[in-house]
Amino acid sequence: EIYGHTAIIGASAGVVVAKGGSVRGLELIRAADVALYGAKANGGNGFCFFEPQMGLKLQLRRSLELDLRQAMERDEFEIYYQPQTRLPGNKIVGVEALIRWLHPERGFVSPMEFIPVAEDVGLIEPIGAWLLKEACTEVANWPEQITLAVNLSAVQFTTGDLLKTVSQALKQSGLPAEQLEFEITESLLMKETGTTLEILNKLRELNSSIAMDDFGTGYSSLSYIQKYPIDKIKIDRAFVMDLPENQESLAIVNAISAMAESLGLKTTAEGIETKEQARILSKAGCTFAQGYLFGKPMPAAEIVEMLGTKRRTKRSA
Ligand code: C2E
Ligand code: MG
Ligand code: MG
Repeated sequence: EIYGHTAIIGASAGVVVAKGGSVRGLELIRAADVALYGAKANGGNGFCFFEPQMGLKLQLRRSLELDLRQAMERDEFEIYYQPQTRLPGNKIVGVEALIRWLHPERGFVSPMEFIPVAEDVGLIEPIGAWLLKEACTEVANWPEQITLAVNLSAVQFTTGDLLKTVSQALKQSGLPAEQLEFEITESLLMKETGTTLEILNKLRELNSSIAMDDFGTGYSSLSYIQKYPIDKIKIDRAFVMDLPENQESLAIVNAISAMAESLGLKTTAEGIETKEQARILSKAGCTFAQGYLFGKPMPAAEIVEMLGTKRRTKRSA
């Protein structure tokens, strides 16, 4: 018990077996450390035996860490924007900002690969702050007032001052707070802390909204939806990708949409690639859509062009 909070302590262990011959103590300790790292990477609270290829993996990871530290200074990050549309139809009503890293030698590194590393080594905070400021500034200057959705890592809620970062980005860019939406994941809500609830409430007091990303892939506990101030659910691509064939996916998207509707929540279906998928989701009652059908993530200039074209077609029609 620490100041009335229960702290749960876990332990992980790395194991190395010394086989015959002469073995150097230092090498053993190093190998055990590598194995410990493996145990932690598996989620912690367990143990892991050392295997030679682990050393190689660790080396790769270390060099990724080093490069990531320099990426900000070298200006290697870029922001792509993916259109979000209202269903039915294809009117662009928002964008999701998605970070891109162009590494000088490795080429494009997926955010799925480097975001977890940035979270581990304390870099997600400066990277997230940079992205927020850049994206707000960019979107504030677009010809149409559309929503900007930004992904937040759970780590950003515990380190640094997220509220300050957000208010600064809004103030400096002039973007109205109601145009900003934050995408959070269930992993954030699972680590039950009073601070998370407080920060989410404050973000909403600013007039920004909160969307639950990748819904359906984690624990999808319904208590989160009740307990936390959530405006929107993003139905994960996993349930959209094999539509219309997969009957179970169909049942799931129908159920999530119906539940959201009766709770007064908006929904965005992710990963829509075909017109048929858009039709199904629209029929299910889903309110917004995102996916390659409407546009892949693209540089700001291309989105602005898309917005411009849409407006011109509307006028000439
Ligand atoms: P997410 O937030 O669920 O983003 C949606 C991902 O699905 C994006 O991948 C997008 O390119 C991809 N996607 C969208 N439509 C389609 C489609 O129709 N078909 C297919 N096959 N894929 C589609 P991306 O850009 O690689 O991002 C992956 C994840 O990385 C994101 O998932 C998000 O969790 C994380 N991420 C990206 N940018 C940021 C960031 O700035 N901050 C944080 N914390 N996480 C980020
Ligand atoms: Mg997202
Ligand atoms: Mg998602």
